[in-house]
Amino acid sequence: MRTKIVAGNWKMNNNLDETKKLIKGIRKSIKKLPLENTRVIVAPTFVNLNSAVKRAKKSKIEVVAQNMHQAKNGAFTGEVSADMLKSIGIKTVILGHSERRTYFGETDAILAEKVTSAIENKLGVIFCFGELLEDRKSDNHFSVVENQLKKALFHLEEKNFKKIVLAYEPVWAIGTGETASPEQAQEMHAFIRGLFEKQYGKGVASRISILYGGSVKPANAEEIFSKPDVDGGLIGGAALKVEDFTAIIKAI
Ligand code: PEP
Repeated sequence: MRTKIVAGNWKMNNNLDETKKLIKGIRKSIKKLPLENTRVIVAPTFVNLNSAVKRAKKSKIEVVAQNMHQAKNGAFTGEVSADMLKSIGIKTVILGHSERRTYFGETDAILAEKVTSAIENKLGVIFCFGELLEDRKSDNHFSVVENQLKKALFHLEEKNFKKIVLAYEPVWAIGTGETASPEQAQEMHAFIRGLFEKQYGKGVASRISILYGGSVKPANAEEIFSKPDVDGGLIGGAALKVEDFTAIIKAI
């Protein structure tokens, strides 16, 4: 059975007090939920990671980073390395979010380096990808997604995929209130699984968790998660409220 995952990407939200409060609230609200085979993840901003890790100890919440630099260390002002993340107890990093690609120039080539660095450092990766609205309108969404995956992930060995979770996030659905229909999500997730089967075989394809991201909220989570190739969600806006995030976890 594939691992189910609900991951909250907090982006550039929540100061230290707000971070503590949100972790406390989620901790309490999920305490009694049956979460076998399910990971609950939150990704606060870098400055609050250390505190979040401490506050999430001995709970079902995993704290992960939103990004990292590919280099080991050195003259990269403002950046954070894999080793720094590991030193405060971080075990997983989100890479390739569309906001990193759009606003910070992260290319597929850079992302391939980041993924390699994370794997070499024994970090898990939640790898995000997805097409723009114009790609979908021109019916190029499958080839865009295929290219993103080939360029950033297909240099890896089969065994590396134990550490990788995929997050399909159509850019037109992120933060827009517009969600891919459950059928559109399922269609793309099945396509992605097919690509992995072709490249790495049935084992990897059937084991890898594929999350959907893009305006998931309590009202639509259950229907999206009910699709056979959707193994959970990467949640932005709705991850910032305890009640909404909890409702989405309950939906899984
Ligand atoms: C995201 O940032 O990954 C995301 C899916 O955001 P939202 O849920 O707000 O669309």
